[in-house]
Amino acid sequence: MSSSSLKTRIAIVGGGMGGLALAVALSKLKAADHLEVNIYESASKLIEVGAGISFWPRGWEIMRNMGLEASLLSKLFPAGHKPLPEELRLLFSVRKGNQPQGTPILDKSGGTIPFHRADVQAVLLDHISPSIQCHLSHRLVNSEEKEDGVVLKFTNGATATCDLLIGADGIHSSVRRSLLSELKPTSDGEAARRALPLWTGVYVYRYMIDAEALRREYPDHPALQKMMIYCGKNKMMTAYPIREGKFINAAPMVSHPECAGTYLNDHGVHEATTDDLMSCFDNWEDEVRALAKYAVQPSRWAIQYVDPMDSYISSSGHVILLGDSAHAAPPYFANGAGLAIESAYVLAALIDKAAKATNGKVDVSRISKAYNAIRQPYCNAAAANCRALGSLYQLTIPGFEQYCDGEDIPEEKIAELSKLMSQGWEWTETSVMPELERALAML
Ligand SMILES: Cc1cc2nc3c(=O)[nH]c(=O)nc-3n(C[C@H](O)[C@H](O)[C@H](O)COP(=O)(O)OP(=O)(O)OC[C@H]3O[C@@H](n4cnc5c(N)ncnc54)[C@H](O)[C@@H]3O)c2cc1C
Repeated sequence: MSSSSLKTRIAIVGGGMGGLALAVALSKLKAADHLEVNIYESASKLIEVGAGISFWPRGWEIMRNMGLEASLLSKLFPAGHKPLPEELRLLFSVRKGNQPQGTPILDKSGGTIPFHRADVQAVLLDHISPSIQCHLSHRLVNSEEKEDGVVLKFTNGATATCDLLIGADGIHSSVRRSLLSELKPTSDGEAARRALPLWTGVYVYRYMIDAEALRREYPDHPALQKMMIYCGKNKMMTAYPIREGKFINAAPMVSHPECAGTYLNDHGVHEATTDDLMSCFDNWEDEVRALAKYAVQPSRWAIQYVDPMDSYISSSGHVILLGDSAHAAPPYFANGAGLAIESAYVLAALIDKAAKATNGKVDVSRISKAYNAIRQPYCNAAAANCRALGSLYQLTIPGFEQYCDGEDIPEEKIAELSKLMSQGWEWTETSVMPELERALAML
C-alpha cells in the first residue's frame, strides 16, 4: 500500500476565496500529514475580479485564528503603521439618498474592515502549505462516485480521484450540478437547468474611484471615511474607502423586479459607461451623484443567486459544497466570502478532529453530516436574510408601496426602516465558534 493511500485524499475544486481559505485552514492543521490536498482551478491564473471586499467580525475572527491577521494588516498599511483591528472597523451609515436632500436612516459602529480583493488573495496564497498543489487550467466537467473514490474529469482531459470532493467552484458550480443530479435523479438536461443560478433582476456596477479626485470636489464626502449605503426605490449605492483611503470602492445597484427569478442568456458581465451610471441617479443627492460621476471604468454585473439547497452534501457524504456554489446570494451583507471562509474553517476543524481520532484516513461521511447539519441551515438563513435586507434598502418591503421614487417618506416609516435594518445586521456581532463547537460535538 502506498503512503498516499493511507492519507485522506481531498480535492478542492475552485481557487476563489472559499477554496483558498480551505487550503489555508487545512495547511495549518496538526493532522495535515494525514491529508493529501489538491486544488483544481479552471483559470490559468489566480485573479480576483472586482475591487473591494470587506470583513465583518465573524470572518475576521477566523482570519485571526488562522494566523493571517498580521499579514492582512500589513497589506492595509505597508508603511508599517500598525493600528488595532478595532480602530480599522469602518462606521457605516445608511441614508435615503434618492432626492436632492437626503435623510439619515441608520448609523452603525463596529462594522467592517475593507480590503482590496487582490490583497486578501495574496495573503491566502502565502499561507498555503507547499505540500498542497494548485492545478491551474483544470476546469471540472463532472464528478462521479466510484468504488475507489470520487473520480473527477476535467476539460483538459486530466482525471483525478479523491475521498472527499469540495466544490468551491462558485455560483456556476459544476459540482452542484453533479450533486443535484445525484440527489434528485432526472435527465441530464433537466439537472443542468436546475443547477443554473437565477437572476435577481439586479445589476451591480463595480468600479473604483480615485479618492483624491473626489476629495478635491467634495472634501467632506462621507465615503472618504466610512461605508455609505444610499437607498432609493429599486436602486441603491454602496461605497467605502480601501487601500489606506486612496480609493473608494463603489457598487451601485439597479433592480428590474420583473426579471427576478429568470435565467440569463449570457454571462451577465458587461462594460458600462459613466453616463449610463449617472442617468440611474438623476435627482439623487449630490453625494450619490458624485460617486457616479467619478466612476473609473465601471462594469455592469447581473447579480445571480442559487435557489436554496436542501443539502450541501451528496448522499454518501463524499461530495460537499462550500461557499457560493451552495448558497450564492446578492451582496447586500457584503459577506458571501465571509460565509465561505467560515465554512472552510468549520470543515477543516472537523477534518482535523476526525483525522486525529483515526490517526490517518478519516470517515468522510461523518464529517460531511456534521458540516451539513451546521452550515446548511446557517448559510441558507443568511442568504434569505440578505435578500430581505435588499428589499429594505430598495424600499420595496410591504408598507412602502405607496412611496414613489424620490418622494418623502414620513419620519415614523424611516424609524421603522432603521429598526428593521439594525435587526438585519445583528449577526455581525456574533461568532462562529459556538457553531464550530456544536459541529465538533457531532463527531
Ligand atoms: C458586487 C459584489 C460585492 C461583494 N462584496 C463582498 C464583500 O465585501 N465581502 C464578502 O465577504 N463578500 C462579498 N461578495 C461576495 C463574494 O464575492 C462571494 O460570495 C465569494 O467570492 C464567493 O467565494 P467562492 O470561493 O465560493 O466562489 P468564487 O470566489 O466565485 O470562486 C470560485 C472559483 O472556482 C473557479 N471555478 C469555477 N468553475 C470551475 C470549474 N468547473 N472547475 C474548476 N474551477 C472552477 C473559478 O474560476 C473561481 O476561481 C460580493 C459579491 C459581489 C458580486
